[in-house]
Amino acid sequence: AKENGRGKYCVFAAEMNQRVFEYLWLDTNLRKALELDHLTVFYQPKVDSDGQIRSAEALVRWNSPERGLVSPAEFIPYAEESGLIVPLGRWVMLNVLKQILTWRQQGIELRVAVNVSARQLLDQSIYSDLKQALADGGLSDCPIDIELTESCLIENEAEALTLMKKFQDLGAQVHLDDFGTGYSSLSQLARVPINAIKLDQSFIRDINLQPVSQSLVRAIVAVAKALDLLVIAEGIETKAEEAFILNSGVDGRQGYYYAKPMPAEQFGHWLAKHPA
Ligand code: C2E
Ligand code: CA
Ligand code: CA
Ligand code: CA
Repeated sequence: AKENGRGKYCVFAAEMNQRVFEYLWLDTNLRKALELDHLTVFYQPKVDSDGQIRSAEALVRWNSPERGLVSPAEFIPYAEESGLIVPLGRWVMLNVLKQILTWRQQGIELRVAVNVSARQLLDQSIYSDLKQALADGGLSDCPIDIELTESCLIENEAEALTLMKKFQDLGAQVHLDDFGTGYSSLSQLARVPINAIKLDQSFIRDINLQPVSQSLVRAIVAVAKALDLLVIAEGIETKAEEAFILNSGVDGRQGYYYAKPMPAEQFGHWLAKHPA
């Protein structure tokens, strides 16, 4: 038993080492990546209930010379912890706005939803940056929406709600991301300034296995409708999943079944080949 305990400790220490090493690697390299423009934004289409594509979600990627394309799942948590999410998020937002203007020149009208972390929202500069960038670009409308997770509502609720309202007043839609995975309840939806909820992937995953998931989705859609909120289903991968979603009153859908996230240029080509 003693041996066993010691073995466990060694595994634990090795894991700690690995994590410290990873943290240090990210600490040096993500900062550099931001300076050297090694980040890039991918876009994934959102399909409206009428089959049209009017918006996309912006998903950041890191093009590391050492590691190749690094997933945000690997560096966003670190960026949040270190505070680097603030300049990184600013970079994403400005990059997206530039892309929207480029698309407009090509005759492509698109809204883009940008993911905003709790820490970024509460820093407030993301709001003033967007406002300033819209003015600088001579835009009277706001083609950017924001996706927030429920963690925003836990950490500093009053301040978060005020900022969400300010984004809405600017013309940005506010979407509650990963809905159903966190702590927020259906009743909470009534008092937060949001335009839509994004049903988490996990609901879709279970849809054809567990009848209870279907009932859950229907119940959530009913409540959202009663509150005048849109519902977007994410993570749709199969025809069967789409079939259920088409039947459930969901307003928007997104997932690999339609398209994976892709670089801006490729997205333009994809759109041209997918008229509604
Ligand atoms: P998210 O906002 O929930 O984004 C959805 C994730 O699911 C994306 O992963 C997307 O590529 C993936 N996805 C889309 N459709 C499907 C599907 O049909 N099946 C499956 N299995 N996955 C699908 P990705 O791009 O790796 O992003 C991971 C997370 O990183 C995002 O989750 C978001 O929370 C965060 N993130 C990405 N970009 C940013 C950013 O610019 N700022 C912040 N703060 N967070 C970001
Ligand atoms: Ca999202
Ligand atoms: Ca999500
Ligand atoms: Ca997520």
